[in-house]
Amino acid sequence: MKTTACCCGATLYFDNTSCSSCDRQVGWCDACGQLAAVERDSSTCLACGVGVTPCANRSAYSVCNGMIATGAGPLCRRCVTTTLVPDLSDPANVERWGVLEAGKRRLLYGLDAIGLGEAWREGEPPLRFKFAADQGDEKTLTGHADGVITINLKEADPVHREIARQEFGEPQRTVIGHLRHEFGHYLQKRLFGDEPGPEVTAVFGDPAPLDYSEALERYYENGPPEDWRDRHISAYASTHPWEDFAETASFYLDMQAVLDTLAAHGVIVTEVPADFDAAIASYQEAALRLNEVNRAMGLTDLVPYIVPPPVVEKLRLIDNGVRAAAGR
Ligand SMILES: [Zn+2]
Ligand SMILES: [Zn+2]
Ligand SMILES: [Zn+2]
Ligand SMILES: [Zn+2]
Repeated sequence: MKTTACCCGATLYFDNTSCSSCDRQVGWCDACGQLAAVERDSSTCLACGVGVTPCANRSAYSVCNGMIATGAGPLCRRCVTTTLVPDLSDPANVERWGVLEAGKRRLLYGLDAIGLGEAWREGEPPLRFKFAADQGDEKTLTGHADGVITINLKEADPVHREIARQEFGEPQRTVIGHLRHEFGHYLQKRLFGDEPGPEVTAVFGDPAPLDYSEALERYYENGPPEDWRDRHISAYASTHPWEDFAETASFYLDMQAVLDTLAAHGVIVTEVPADFDAAIASYQEAALRLNEVNRAMGLTDLVPYIVPPPVVEKLRLIDNGVRAAAGR
């Protein structure tokens, strides 16, 4: 996550809505695609000079920091990707929705950063999001189908998330983690279609002999195989080849985001290595040091996984697919 400089010289961060130094309004400008301050009197973006107004989700609910060219909208390009929101008459729902939108903006930023911006801007099927709460017996299942990523609103509740994190042994149960995992399912279909060929099954395994729901049930009853660490990036990835793909893709997006952030701040690395093997090596090295920082603060490890050789090949397949899709 890169930072930018306000016209006053102060540093602007991705989630900022105003500059802490000069108090100008700040936000992500759709007109120039960057974080920028807004001139007080003229409401023009100080990065591109276009007249801007706040995204409607910003002015009405404070769940976005977007700005759109005056006359466009009412929603910014990131907010229009959400096609279902929870009941907003409940203030707690607005707050949780805001947490999910903030995670979604980071996901979309990350896709732009690795050249997959087209996937969410004009993909086929287009990438869309639904954020909903359980309605009595009608449960909202977090998942992906036909380009639509659905996240249950309770994943924005830290108490629920912590209980689930312990119960299911998922150290990375976070909002951004959910979004990256579900995007992983979308990415699999975008890159390899509904019936991935032998180049995918050779690396991830053949899904044909496995019934999906039986595989999940077995996992939740018996846990992962003892040697999952030798072959998978997480315990949950051992459930089914396509869950493995989503978990591995999620790790891939984590890696890109962390390296991008470290490079932007000149910490540990000065640039994101262009070569895949060098990027993996950089990330593993950075992870050791960043985990030590977290342990110094009594937090869980930032990168709780070690990458065994079979997972390197899974990541390589995804990296090749992403580079091809991004035209790199
Ligand atoms: Zn400023
Ligand atoms: Zn602008
Ligand atoms: Zn917005
Ligand atoms: Zn999944």
